[in-house]
Amino acid sequence: MEDGLYRIIIVGGGTAGWMAAAGLRRQLEPGDYRITLIESDEIGTVGVGEATLPHIKLFNDMLGLDEAEFMRETQATFKLGIEFCGWDRPGSRYIHPFGAFGEPWGGVEFQHHWLRLQAAGRPVAPLQAYSYAVAAARANAFELPDEDPGSIRSTYSYAYHFDAGRFADYLRRYATARGVDRIEGQVCAIDRDGESGALTAVTLKSGRRIEGDLFVDCTGFRSLLLGGQYGVGWDDWTKWLPCDRALAVPCAHGGDLTPYTRATARPAGWQWRIPLQHRIGNGYIFSSAMLSPEEAHDVLLANLDGAPLTSPKLLRFTPGCREVAWRGNCVAVGLASGFLEPLESTSIYLIQAAVIDLVNLIPTPNSGRRPDPRLADEFNRLNAMQYERVRDFLILHYVANRREGEPFWDHLRAMPIPDSLAHKLALFRARGAVPNYQYGLFARDSWLSVLVGQGITPATYDRLAEGFNLETIAAQLDDFRDRIDAGVAAMSPHGAFVDRYCAMPEATSA
Ligand SMILES: Cc1cc2nc3c(=O)[nH]c(=O)nc-3n(C[C@H](O)[C@H](O)[C@H](O)COP(=O)(O)OP(=O)(O)OC[C@H]3O[C@@H](n4cnc5c(N)ncnc54)[C@H](O)[C@@H]3O)c2cc1C
Repeated sequence: MEDGLYRIIIVGGGTAGWMAAAGLRRQLEPGDYRITLIESDEIGTVGVGEATLPHIKLFNDMLGLDEAEFMRETQATFKLGIEFCGWDRPGSRYIHPFGAFGEPWGGVEFQHHWLRLQAAGRPVAPLQAYSYAVAAARANAFELPDEDPGSIRSTYSYAYHFDAGRFADYLRRYATARGVDRIEGQVCAIDRDGESGALTAVTLKSGRRIEGDLFVDCTGFRSLLLGGQYGVGWDDWTKWLPCDRALAVPCAHGGDLTPYTRATARPAGWQWRIPLQHRIGNGYIFSSAMLSPEEAHDVLLANLDGAPLTSPKLLRFTPGCREVAWRGNCVAVGLASGFLEPLESTSIYLIQAAVIDLVNLIPTPNSGRRPDPRLADEFNRLNAMQYERVRDFLILHYVANRREGEPFWDHLRAMPIPDSLAHKLALFRARGAVPNYQYGLFARDSWLSVLVGQGITPATYDRLAEGFNLETIAAQLDDFRDRIDAGVAAMSPHGAFVDRYCAMPEATSA
């Protein structure tokens, strides 16, 4: 404290810890804040978390990262969406694309025109045919989107698949080069102020004591500070999200480099497939009440593209989140604050959102060393809203299934769901209306892709669609599809684009 700097101590050096360190260092004045990160080689990181959402690009841009370099360093590939196989019925498939379906003619959302044409008995293609990102993904094609809003190639965005360990390393190099102090060691004791209860210092196994003003708990599922010290409880959402185990294994490539994540429904959960440059990440997410790890092991290994590169690793989790993420002078980010499950790849996004909110709400140098509880309340409000919105979207995938005769899926179809989701489902069923949030996940087209992809049909559409000439709308839909076809035909194969743009010369199968 001699130099008067505000001391931020981040405990944990996984994706959450290093994203927090990099983001805070980039945004906070080095003349006002000192940032220290403590990580334990002995404990290590969770080692998964490789599929992202398009928002990650905003985070990387905020850090000023060079995209091609970042992708080379993390062995990344591009992701245009997620393919869901068998979630409606066995054999069904659809893509949740990162991009728009059609265009909103006359201020009326696309799906209403599409529904109206169907209701009028006009020949109309499935919804998926009106997404550029779906067509590109199906063709294994990729080019960077066009910034010209008049171009069909401006109607999609993209995210990345990357190696989680390499991502944390990359951010570690970024943050330490910009002045973040890194300390290797295991925290084994935590001091608190006798009067206020605020955290004051952590002590490492080595005996070294590190004092701080604000503590960021990035210790993963352990949540050493917020859960362990403050005793903040965990809201368990297993009743809605029944999968609580994951068996993860990387395997060798066996074919084309696909620009999307795949999520395949299985008898007691689902399997992910995440293609990186040097390997494919795979995992079976399942309910421990319905399946043993041994059974999961057999299913997983029978469904890989290539030879497994390690033995499968079992991970246990309880879907849910902390009652609050910020208490006193401790803020939890990452798995320490919550984890729903890997479906829809939301966890790294939630880290990013928490880091941005923390930057906005962190005490300023002249506002005193203790955080203003009203700012902490605002952080908690935003965080809870994010988690609840993601939760509803994930539950939708499970509840809207027609896999009849399979106990896991039958149970999910019949389970009670949160009122907030019931409301959204009722609106879509009645009028084709989908949520359109200004903040947080998920955007309208995401909801639409899953609702339609899983076989939910609205009774009718927005009456405003009636104001348009049917012939004109039909012609516009055809024209949109023609432009998609022409655009995709001119794209590179994804693998060739990656080779050209960001291939790591000596790709290794780590
Ligand atoms: C099966 C599975 C699949 C997932 N897939 C995705 C995905 O596709 N996309 C996505 O966005 N997210 C995914 N996630 C979530 C993602 O993995 C995490 O959000 C992300 O890795 C962040 O983890 P973390 O940094 O919070 O925790 P961890 O990686 O566990 O890091 C915790 C850190 O705390 C340190 N630590 C712990 N205790 C101490 C101590 N006493 N002293 C010092 N240091 C300590 C550890 O050494 C480590 O550095 C997945 C998660 C799971 C479980």
